[in-house]
This record gives sequence, structure tokens and C-alpha cells, in this order.
Amino acid sequence: MAPAEGARRDEPDRDSIDEEMEEREGAIAQLFDARTFRENAELVVARLERHLADSSLRGLELTRPSDLLEAARDLMQARGDESPGSWKERLEAILDLYVDTGIQVHSPGFMGRQFSGVIPLAGVFDLASSIVNQPSSFYEAGQLPNVAERLMAEELSRLVGWNADESAMVTTSGGSLANLTALLAARNDKLPWSWSRGLAGGKPGRRPAIAVSEDVHYCVPRAAGILGVGDEQVVRLPIDRRRRIVADEVRPSLDRAAARGLDVFCLVASAGTTSFGAIDPLDELAAIAEERDLWFHVDGAHGASLLVSDELRHKLEGIERADSFAWDAHKLMFVPAMCSLLFYKDKEKAHGAFRQQASYVFEKEPDEYTAYDSAGKNFECTKRPLIMNLWVLWSLYGRQAFATKIEHLCELAERAHGALREAPDFEPLHRPEMNILCFRYLPANLPPSRFEEFQLAIRNRIRRGGRFFISKVDVDGVPALRVVFMNHLTRLSHFRMLLDEIRREGQALLRADQRDV
Ligand SMILES: *Cc1c(COP(=O)(O)O)cnc(C)c1O
Repeated sequence: MAPAEGARRDEPDRDSIDEEMEEREGAIAQLFDARTFRENAELVVARLERHLADSSLRGLELTRPSDLLEAARDLMQARGDESPGSWKERLEAILDLYVDTGIQVHSPGFMGRQFSGVIPLAGVFDLASSIVNQPSSFYEAGQLPNVAERLMAEELSRLVGWNADESAMVTTSGGSLANLTALLAARNDKLPWSWSRGLAGGKPGRRPAIAVSEDVHYCVPRAAGILGVGDEQVVRLPIDRRRRIVADEVRPSLDRAAARGLDVFCLVASAGTTSFGAIDPLDELAAIAEERDLWFHVDGAHGASLLVSDELRHKLEGIERADSFAWDAHKLMFVPAMCSLLFYKDKEKAHGAFRQQASYVFEKEPDEYTAYDSAGKNFECTKRPLIMNLWVLWSLYGRQAFATKIEHLCELAERAHGALREAPDFEPLHRPEMNILCFRYLPANLPPSRFEEFQLAIRNRIRRGGRFFISKVDVDGVPALRVVFMNHLTRLSHFRMLLDEIRREGQALLRADQRDV
């Protein structure tokens, strides 16, 4: 139908439409301009170079959230003067705020958490991944990432003596998701009816369960909960003084669980634990899992990196008997978060976690290309090309570069343990298996009534001091101090300085007590 005369008169003419389009195109093009990209990148890189070159002792300056909110809001509201100079200043101010309010992971004072100062080249390459933007669940969208994933699977599975043709590896966004995916594969393998019928579809009166260490990372019981395995169905296995599962207690624990109506289908070991870096007796646990037909999963989020070291690999003996194991490269492989790897001994089982059809992405019969898709093995649809940073470092620097740093950090932890043993006012809680060390400051003048919260109070004062960043962990319900050596710049002399600072802060606390009495 032809428009009425009046309506036609109100329509803008072609020329002004074109002008409007052009104006819009121009505004958009500014955002995407290649030259501007380079200028911004140079500005950011120069700032980060200064950040990396600063090897002073810096921990964390904890800013009150309300203050930070205000500072950040000011930066949003500073718009108005849109000259290029002011725009750059604001970009720099935002970057400064970002860098300064972070835990200073590149400083020798950083001994607090399992993430680390990254190998800078990984960060540079991360920029490349962001710009070329190749989500990597499907070969079509991320060709090189999917090939690199295959190559890294070959390189790394060799370290546990697996044949890359028979095993499989998939990257996930974090160790928590790797563990969840492994538990799902375990459930679907051992309870094959569960994917279609759900967990209620099993034998009447029996409930599926998993067995874990008392010291398991919290993400594993959480993953169980997500799968419909309730907290009562998580069997906690007793641990010894070194915080390792007591192998002799496992069979009786499983028997007691069975008597309560629980059918354990998966045994989870840790290598090492988050709190202590303890490594469960993998070989003995593997034997029990085989004997009882359980899926054996090893949470190696923290410690699997020891596999790259010829010196330390033996600590993980037995991991090669696991059905699956998780490995966080964003911890001891020094790449930016996230990069987690999930390995399966039997590649067929890697597809067992997700047994779905979705015609818009999945092909019924994989061809030469879709055989490289990882989407069948991981939960994410759009996914960062997580492997690229690791693959680039591995290709350019080689395995030994990682091994050298990991060996150095483990040696440092060992020496720090020696320093604690020599200090009468400190008590190490274990001999470190890897780069994590827990201890308490117990001066002779510490009244027993203060024992419970003393360590935590010290930890908070150390953080406020802004020179060191350490963490705390509850051991049998009582806080202890915890250091994680992640930085090669940290020396034994820094650790001794930390001990002195702990003494100073601890004594200041006790003096304050006396004043209060
Ligand atoms: C860090 C850690 C996790 C969690 O991994 P994310 O990558 O933080 O999700 C799980 N298990 C252990 C033993 C860990 O140390």
C-alpha cells in the first residue's frame, strides 16, 4: 500500500540519512581505530613496565570499599573535557587505581596466595588473545587454540606416562570447574542412568556418594551439591598430622558409608591441598579405587605442576593411575588466571561428562575439523582460548623454565621451614611438601587465653603494614599463619624480615593487651 501524501512529506530525505549513518560510522570507527589501539597499548605497557620493575616490599593496601567506590566514581564522572590529553590522563588514572589497589603479586613481599606474578610474556600474549578473540570451544572459531590444546595434551600427558592417543585433556575456566566436570564424568560413568533419569533414578533406599579428604578444597563438596550429591553424601576421610588421607582408614570409612545406604562412586584425592600443600597417598588410594570400582579423581589444582620437574615429579607417584586429574596452570605455571587443565586417562570418558545433542553446534559424526572441538568435553560454550598463554611460554621457553622456578620455590619453602625450626618462638605445623608453609608465632609471653585469635590478629596487622601479604588457615579449628611462595624474588632474607615483623606486631598486640587490663 502506498503511504499517504502527508507521511511521505515527514520522511527524512536520503541525503540526511546517509549523513547520519556516516556520522555514526565515524563515531564507532574511533573506538576501533588501529592507531589509537597502539597508542593506548603503549601507554598501558609503559605503566606496567614501571610496575614490574618495582621490586620493593609491597603487600596489599586494603582500601575501604566506600573510599574505592568514590575514587572510581570520580573517574567515571570526570568526563566533560574530552580533549585527547585529558582522556589519556583518565586512562592512566584508572590503570593506577587498578594496579595500586591490587595484591602486589610481583613484589617479594607477596607470600599469600596461590596465584602469582605471571611470566610477563603470557600477559602480552593475553592481549593478543583478547584482540583476535577466538573463543575456543569449537575448532571453527579457534583453530590454533584447539590445535595447541592437542599439542599441550601430548606434552603434558607424557609426564604421567600416558599415551596422548588414548588419553584426553580439556581446558576449563578454573580448577573448580575442572573438578565439577570430572565429578560429572565420574557420575555418568559409574551411574550411567543418571544423565537421563537424574539421581533419583537409582536403586530405592541407596544414595550416590563421593569420598573426599577432610581437607579437600571447598569446591569439591560444592560440585557434589551441584550434581545432586548432598552434603550428607560426601564422605569425609580422616587425615593424619601431615594432613594426608590415612589410607588404612579408607576401606572402613567406605564400609560404614555403605551401611548407611551410601554408594560411593568416586574417590577424590588432593595433590596438594590448598591449606598445606599436602599430597594424599595417591598410589594406595588408586589401589582402593580399583578394588572397589570407584572413579579415582586427583585434584591437582595446586600441585600437579610438580609434574614438569624431574626432581619433584616422584612426589605425585600414583597420579598416573587416576581416571582424571585437574591442574591449574594459573597457579604454579605462572600464567594469568584462568587456565585450568582436566586430564582423563581414557579419552572416551572425556565425552561422558556431557551427553547432549544440540544441533546448532554439535555434529552427529565428527569430521576432520569437528573432531578437534572441545565443546563436547567442557561446560563453557563461548570460552577463552585458555591454552594459548601456556602453549606460547612452553614453546618459547620450554619445560625446564617452569621446572626451575618450581624447584626454586619448593627449596625456599624447605629453607623457610628450617628458619622456623631454629626460632624458639615459632612453631612450623608441618614440613612442606611443596611451596606452602603453615606455622604459628608462639612467644613465651603469650597467655593461653589469647592463643585462639592471636595469629589472625597478627595476620591482619601484617596486612595493614602493607609490606607483606600472607594468609591464614584454620588448623583443627585454630587459625595459623600460611605463606605460599610464588615469587622467585622472595628470598630467605625476606622471610626472616617477615618473621621479625610478626614478632614486632605480635609483641605490640600483647603490650596493648596489658594496657587494657
Ligand atoms: C585453587 C584450588 C582449587 C580451585 O581452583 P580455582 O582455579 O581457583 O577454581 C581447587 N583445588 C585445590 C587443591 C586448589 O588449590
